[in-house]
Amino acid sequence: MIKLEEAQKIVLDSISRLQPEDIPLEDCDGLVTAEPLYAGESIPPFDNTAVDGFALNSHDIDSGFKEFEILGTIAAGGYQESPLPTGKTYRIMTGAPMPPNSDCVLMVEDSLITDRDGKSYLSFQSAPKKSDNVREAGSDIKEGQLLFEAQTRLTAGHLGVLASLGMYRVRVYPRPRVGILSTGDELSNDSGPLQPGQIRDSNRQTLASLVREMGADPIDFGTIKDDPDQLRDAFTKAASSCDAVLSSGGVSVGDFDYTKAVLDELSSGSMSWMQIAIRPAKPFAFGHIATTPVFGLPGNPVSSMVSFELLARPAILKMMGSSNLFRSQIAAVSDSELRRRPDGKTHFLRVTASWDDQGRIHVKPQSGQSSHLLYSMANSNALAVVPDGHGVPVGEMTHIILLREI
Ligand code: AMP
Ligand code: MG
Repeated sequence: MIKLEEAQKIVLDSISRLQPEDIPLEDCDGLVTAEPLYAGESIPPFDNTAVDGFALNSHDIDSGFKEFEILGTIAAGGYQESPLPTGKTYRIMTGAPMPPNSDCVLMVEDSLITDRDGKSYLSFQSAPKKSDNVREAGSDIKEGQLLFEAQTRLTAGHLGVLASLGMYRVRVYPRPRVGILSTGDELSNDSGPLQPGQIRDSNRQTLASLVREMGADPIDFGTIKDDPDQLRDAFTKAASSCDAVLSSGGVSVGDFDYTKAVLDELSSGSMSWMQIAIRPAKPFAFGHIATTPVFGLPGNPVSSMVSFELLARPAILKMMGSSNLFRSQIAAVSDSELRRRPDGKTHFLRVTASWDDQGRIHVKPQSGQSSHLLYSMANSNALAVVPDGHGVPVGEMTHIILLREI
């Protein structure tokens, strides 16, 4: 058996980032910048009003004007070219440009309007001061400034900033295409009654979801029989059209595991067949078909998910240019004993994590921890990382990997 860290190193050392591409902004969600991005404009692009109100010149107020003739209205999207004459005002709507020679805005809520001789006049109790309610040009972003360093993962706020600057194509690492296939004669995808000995294929669904959730594109290569020709064909197609391939099943020591022979052949012997000191997900294979990395995940449904989490996910994140490959481990109080026996392995126990009212996280283990018990995986939101030994007593702290929000 090798240590998990050793297996992760074998995988990550042979993974490279994909070639950066200029990708339309709307497809960049979750992708990582390949170069630093600079602002070509300032935001806001012009001084504008933060409120609905009246644009004024504070000098007029200081020099004693009490009433201001209202010359008209400036809507958002409109503008006023000529300078504000002394003692006058414009009604102005949130986001509209300040007219030249104005420097503050009186909120509409604080205004008193008087109509006289077909004209309207503004007066007020408390006067605004210079800059009040004005959003200065460049107060958010200044032209030329560094926006985001290389290796920034773009999320909602980043995408909004780039859109506001008209940066509609961004140099990022593209979304990896991840081919997924299941292997096994026993697997069915039919909703009708199962034939004797059959079970339904669940790994393609779980793996596709995990791939999608991390921002990569899952490509389905179906369920493949334990047949050398079909396996060879499927792996060849997947490896030649994808950036990475995930297969499940056939990596342990069963009698009909042709996956091993076929992968050894297609990878020109580059596959490492590992036994990792973890539970679940001990067997794991990794190598390359031509230049495409291939991850041979175990067939047991929980093992394939845990194996993805610990070994494939960090590698795909590396392809995506991410500098943050591992989920952070956080501390949690164990509300029940996290029971295990010494066996030289690190155990990843399915747990349900929840907050208490002090802001601490507590975990409870699922009752079933065997690697075929997929239902308990569905009902967990975290994995407790329990080192070799006798487990974690009630009330003690444990490390957990959060897989979903609590
Ligand atoms: P294997 O790794 O091929 O020896 O399979 C280990 C166990 O996982 C067996 O019980 C398989 O039936 C089961 N298994 C393999 N592939 C899948 C799959 N795609 N969906 C559900 N169970 C599977
Ligand atoms: Mg099998």
